[in-house]
Amino acid sequence: MIEKVLIANRGEIAVRVMRACREMGIETVAVHSTADANAMHVRLADESVCIGPPAVKDSYLNMSAILSAAAISNADAIHPGYGFLSENADFADMVEEHGITFIGPTADHIRVMGDKITAKATVKAAGIPVVPGSDGAVSDPVEARRVAEEIGLPVIIKAAAGGGGRGMRVATTMEELEEALSVASSEAAAMFGSGAVYVEKFLGKPRHIEIQILADTHGNVVHLGERDCSLQRRHQKVLEEAPSPALNASQRNEIGEIARAAIQKLGYRSTGTIEFLYEDGGFYFIEMNTRLQVEHPVTEMICGLDLVREMIRVASGSPLSFTQDEVRFSGHAIECRINAEHPETFMPSPGKVGDYYTPGGLGVRVDSALYSGYTVPPYYDSLIAKLIVHGANRNECLMRLRRALSEYVIDGMDTSIPLHQRLMSEPDFVNGDYDIHWLERLLGL
Ligand code: ADP
Repeated sequence: MIEKVLIANRGEIAVRVMRACREMGIETVAVHSTADANAMHVRLADESVCIGPPAVKDSYLNMSAILSAAAISNADAIHPGYGFLSENADFADMVEEHGITFIGPTADHIRVMGDKITAKATVKAAGIPVVPGSDGAVSDPVEARRVAEEIGLPVIIKAAAGGGGRGMRVATTMEELEEALSVASSEAAAMFGSGAVYVEKFLGKPRHIEIQILADTHGNVVHLGERDCSLQRRHQKVLEEAPSPALNASQRNEIGEIARAAIQKLGYRSTGTIEFLYEDGGFYFIEMNTRLQVEHPVTEMICGLDLVREMIRVASGSPLSFTQDEVRFSGHAIECRINAEHPETFMPSPGKVGDYYTPGGLGVRVDSALYSGYTVPPYYDSLIAKLIVHGANRNECLMRLRRALSEYVIDGMDTSIPLHQRLMSEPDFVNGDYDIHWLERLLGL
């Protein structure tokens, strides 16, 4: 049994994981950089250990410091949250080699899915539809041209090791293709330490739809439906909702079942998300995330389940606490990512929180580590809060979300709340009629 969990993360997700631990009677250990000594995740934990200076490479990415913290605090498991070391297969290996349970998938699954080329080949073999494109890495312009001729322009060149919406380049003509290939490859080498890139068809107006998966070590796999994450800026998600306004129940069951069967074949464990682009009724795999996602609460709200609790149960060897037949989707949920940044220029705006008031009431959830008097440090991601709202249907959800956004007070810094308020009155958004490029068109980017 897991009795003490070290959370190798910070901010809202560290608090989120601690909440699940506390409900389960599990002790928690926070780790923090010197910049985070007064952070909420440190205050809420039973114990805390300083793991280094502010820079992430010296603290939240410092594997040996985190393992030492686990050793001195006698933690028997580590939850990595998202970002930082959550998809680092070497870290998962090291944790297990030290006799500590990694609350997540096996290092091998993280490794396979961490390289987008092997991931694509692996899921394709397991029966998942993929975006048409090259079979593996492409470095030769002649080969790139042959692929582009076969699948048709425009194409997108993507880094095998890419992530966070970076390392992608679109080519609309054969002339652009050659340059895009060499630029993408050298950028990928500089950013991700590997210049391997591949070519796939660039879809013009797709939605981003992802399937949430949960699997235990007894061969049970369930899917928890989809999330629609098409509202993006620079390939990064801004707002997510479930269910997708674009799918009906039979489409949901069909793609959910395909994902479930593939995951079962792969012998995967813990939470995972299979991301698809969806266009003209077809689903095309883009990548799999082998961790808890930022947007997991929308799924929790419509399923009434605690994904972190299930992750901890699975890591302790217990079977999932429910079967696919017992999964019930109820109502509609939307998450607004609230960042400390200017709502129009998107310039980061870290600073000291003055007055702070969170919305509440029926169907409203705020996942955040903010408090009045807290200073948001400039070193980390600008996500400061997630406002998640549930309603009996999409319309009620939108009414409630407008109300909740109007209540939220975060003084002392610019936030993206005004951007979300603007979205709530856009007819296309209200009608659920948007693709992955819609937000950038709206913002004139
Ligand atoms: P990352 O790991 O960086 O998040 P993904 O492969 O998940 O990269 O892609 C992120 C986003 O990039 C997608 O949600 C979509 O907006 C865009 N994208 C990726 N592949 C394609 C494609 N083949 N056609 C059009 N857009 C794409």
